Amino acid sequence: MSKESMLKNNLGRVEESIVEACNRAGRRREDVTLIAVSKTKPVEVLKEAYDLGVRVFGENKVQELLDKYEALPKDVEWHMIGHLQTNKVKYLIGKVEMIHSVDSLRLAQAIEKESAKKDCVTKILIEVNVAEEESKFGIRVDEVESFLERLAEFKHVQVCGLMTIAPFVENSEENREIFKNLHKLSVDIMGKNIDNRNVDVLSMGMTNDYGVAIEEGATMVRVGTGIFGFRNYF
Ligand SMILES: *Cc1c(COP(=O)(O)O)cnc(C)c1O
Repeated sequence: MSKESMLKNNLGRVEESIVEACNRAGRRREDVTLIAVSKTKPVEVLKEAYDLGVRVFGENKVQELLDKYEALPKDVEWHMIGHLQTNKVKYLIGKVEMIHSVDSLRLAQAIEKESAKKDCVTKILIEVNVAEEESKFGIRVDEVESFLERLAEFKHVQVCGLMTIAPFVENSEENREIFKNLHKLSVDIMGKNIDNRNVDVLSMGMTNDYGVAIEEGATMVRVGTGIFGFRNYF
């Protein structure tokens, strides 16, 4: 099979699984955004995906995202999903649709400052370490609310929701509790009406577990391997 038709097949399969998960959960397909995670993949592959209709891409490295931003048409939505250093924020502002990985006040301040300079508002998600894995970035569940309160004064940062990276597991059911907890956290926060803080976006679920994540309320799923195949790291 050619590479192009493999990509087409993969996209079709992922789309089908998303629809099935939405049906199981009684949710509408249009309430779930598929982010095609294209990290490590060459620009030509992204262009093929673009030609197949993909308009929402996720990247985890600043330079790589910028290179691909330059190479692809301007109607692509870029999502920064990887850990972000404060000093690199300035390169992204105005180019990314959303930053999923905000996990410190320092980072949020940098986004505020650079967005103010460019006179724009940047959408962000708070990365939450629901699984409480030591190795992971993210804010602890019990600290999210006070963190949000500290962001309330920022005029150029729009908090849209929460993101989590669940552990790699063989059986996606093992992550159900994590997705449930992130959903519950967002419902709790919404109930408290923190000034200017809407958290109805839930970015959760990757290739191995996006079906379960959708059942538990994901509004964005980040799928890499399932679309582009395995990654080669050099
Ligand atoms: C790489 C990555 C993904 C996609 O992972 P797959 O298992 O390949 O679907 C999703 N989210 C983040 C934050 C990633 O870094």
